[in-house]
Amino acid sequence: MNENINDYKAVLVFAERRGGIIEGVTFELLNKGRELAKKRKSNVIAVILGSSLKENAKQLIERGADKVICADSKDLENFIDTTYANVLSEIILKYKPEIVLAGSTTLGRSLLPRVAAKLKTGLTADCTELDIDPADGKLLQTRPAAGGSIMATIVTPNSRPQMSTVRHKVFKESEIDASRKGEVENFEVKDEYIDRRSKYISFKKDESQTVNLSDADIIVSGGRGLKQPENFKIVHQLAEALDGAVGASRPVIDDGWLPFSHQVGQTGKTVSPKIYVALGISGAIQHIAGMKSSDVIIAVNKDENAPIFQIADYGIVGDLFEVVPLLLRKLKEIEK
Ligand SMILES: Cc1cc2nc3c(=O)[nH]c(=O)nc-3n(C[C@H](O)[C@H](O)[C@H](O)COP(=O)(O)OP(=O)(O)OC[C@H]3O[C@@H](n4cnc5c(N)ncnc54)[C@H](O)[C@@H]3O)c2cc1C
Repeated sequence: MNENINDYKAVLVFAERRGGIIEGVTFELLNKGRELAKKRKSNVIAVILGSSLKENAKQLIERGADKVICADSKDLENFIDTTYANVLSEIILKYKPEIVLAGSTTLGRSLLPRVAAKLKTGLTADCTELDIDPADGKLLQTRPAAGGSIMATIVTPNSRPQMSTVRHKVFKESEIDASRKGEVENFEVKDEYIDRRSKYISFKKDESQTVNLSDADIIVSGGRGLKQPENFKIVHQLAEALDGAVGASRPVIDDGWLPFSHQVGQTGKTVSPKIYVALGISGAIQHIAGMKSSDVIIAVNKDENAPIFQIADYGIVGDLFEVVPLLLRKLKEIEK
């Protein structure tokens, strides 16, 4: 427990950077961070670690940071978890933010628990919603719990900062505003923060991730309603006709019809396309957790009481084996 939690102010967003480029999840966190800071009448601080950070700092201000703290050092060019945890902890101790947000990425999942342990504070991983309690100003951190069967809202009552990680695509990115002004401060990276026991050698991309669902504008997903793996070809046909990517519910993956990289949901990808088409998917809470922020949701299901219709913008009650061929025919006509 911190001595005086009232000394802690502002929302700090950890800006994730890879190969000199800021990851999209950072802009999503800046957007949410601004909303939280407004409710707390405070400001948004972005923290970036690496080298040659001038352009990155400018971009963070354009995307909503009031202040950017740059820890600029050749030793921070590549991610080393212990070194990054030392530097981020020191920054938090100096600036005393009440909220710290980071992406629930491989990097964020490795970094934030180390920082939370060092600072002896709480961390809620994989949040799907963040808000401020109007009664006492505490951060409300919502995430699926108990095997995904309930949504739990977690608070950090006695220690600061309140720390959360959030998956990519759960929130919308902040808009670019080139006229925004903000401060840039350099944080001195002392040699004692650098862990010389670990050395960065190289980065190898996981080539098994064949589809990048997270960046697709249109996704056509199929579920158990397809019944047989060979029937899944109509999902591929519709995706192709719409120039979209193919997604799936978990049973489809568990039964080996498609590789895991296609799974949408709590234990798969979180997606936020312009159009999400759900074919023969019931709309279980764990599936919805991964696609509910899609701009337009179109569902085809033969059960009019299927929960997917509660979040669908357009619902077609019918047999997908009749509806999809009709859609394909219509799309072909439009193309002509
Ligand atoms: C810890 C945990 C994590 C999980 N993570 C995920 C996850 O990441 N992603 C995920 O998807 N699930 C996840 N699940 C599983 C989830 O609870 C559901 O079981 C799953 O989403 C159901 O998949 P479905 O909608 O394809 O199948 P079903 O629930 O069986 O639904 C099939 C639907 O198809 C409809 N249908 C059948 N025939 C037709 C037809 N001819 N035409 C039109 N409609 C038809 C039916 O009416 C039904 O609504 C998780 C579960 C747990 C416990």
